[in-house]
Amino acid sequence: MNFNLFGHGEQWFAVDCGITLEQVPGAVRPTVQMPDLGFITARQEQLTGLIVTHAHEDHLGALPYLWEQLQCPVYATPFAAAVLRHKTRGRRGTLPNPLIQVEPGDTMALGPFNVEWLPITHSTPETCALSITVGDSRVLHTADWKIDRDPVVGSAWSARRFKELGDAGIDAVICDSTNALQAGHSPSEGEVAVGLGRAVSACKGRVVVGCFSSNVARMHTLAKISVKTGRYLGVLGRSALGMARCAQQVGLLPPEFQPIYAEHLGYLPPAEVLAVATGSQGEWGAALHRLMNQTHPDMSLDAGDTVILSSKTIPGNEASVSSLIEGFRARGIAVVSAEESAEPLHASGHPCQGELTDLYQILRPALVIPVHGERAHMTANADVAKNAGVGATLTGQNGDLFYLSPTPGVRRRFAEVGRLEWCEETERLVTVG
Ligand SMILES: [Zn+2]
Ligand SMILES: [Zn+2]
Repeated sequence: MNFNLFGHGEQWFAVDCGITLEQVPGAVRPTVQMPDLGFITARQEQLTGLIVTHAHEDHLGALPYLWEQLQCPVYATPFAAAVLRHKTRGRRGTLPNPLIQVEPGDTMALGPFNVEWLPITHSTPETCALSITVGDSRVLHTADWKIDRDPVVGSAWSARRFKELGDAGIDAVICDSTNALQAGHSPSEGEVAVGLGRAVSACKGRVVVGCFSSNVARMHTLAKISVKTGRYLGVLGRSALGMARCAQQVGLLPPEFQPIYAEHLGYLPPAEVLAVATGSQGEWGAALHRLMNQTHPDMSLDAGDTVILSSKTIPGNEASVSSLIEGFRARGIAVVSAEESAEPLHASGHPCQGELTDLYQILRPALVIPVHGERAHMTANADVAKNAGVGATLTGQNGDLFYLSPTPGVRRRFAEVGRLEWCEETERLVTVG
């Protein structure tokens, strides 16, 4: 549930406003939690705007719930803006107003801050790092990123602008730590496209591919594979359909993406079916869970069919994923998972140690502040930075203020922080005690 504030003098702007899903023991579905924005809502007149770096739930999912408290202009790229409009259409929550569309590469002034949106590769399109200049200081906020030279959707990673900024001088880099415990580089979406192509070609019966619904590149890849393998493409699950529609609206999917109505899938010969499905974490009630339980209204799977999990198991979901896999296998349905297969069937959207090192050597900042991860990830990221020649690193926790002048440091627990939870019964936000 990302929420960052950047301040100078008496003015602030925010970056991202996300949710997290918390599984309460005994509950069927996880509850939606988000940050308590009390610190900034108490000084709302000092807030000049909020920038959404990309369309993932942990970066924009809380905006429909919390924008009314913020009442500030929100900046987003066309795809992220389409996702926000989709999320608030006819459902709960408020669409930010004004919602200002920004193209990757644009520069804009937010109060005293000059912000440049730097295209960077990640597992959802149009993700942007932010170069923030105020006075003679420059901070680079990476957002979530990886180095992908063949991202399938959008432009390949380019070091050019990052190198120019590094040459001009960067005071601090705020950087994604998610994969900082892993050595090497993450594979590209292009390699996953090849792996998935081979995996689907090897199947005889129906094929269902589970992936994260915000991964537009994966949908792009499966559309191409459906044409090559003579299968009709279907999309199962509300969130995947919603994401596909948003991506189509802004022109991110190829002409081959022509899904048929899900209710027609059940009438096709098995060898002509390729479906994309939600629920790769074994979520209760999602498309894959229903297919496993034989309660999906549009299609059923039989022995000889194949489920490909083009995803990773998010820590904490091991039990639900393994019961999903066992449920299919018990019925003679083959399961090929990215974690077990020799083919590359999934690529993470976050930088491993090799990518972190590459970026730090390109940017050569004075200071690195690791964010986005547990303490162990942030510590590992700081170690990578030091090994890459960065002179100083600072790590902290929610509510800490990192300051750049007169000399860099941290003021611990500067802002009061907490969590809010959406209560389904009362349809209100409540403080998590
Ligand atoms: Zn994230
Ligand atoms: Zn992300």
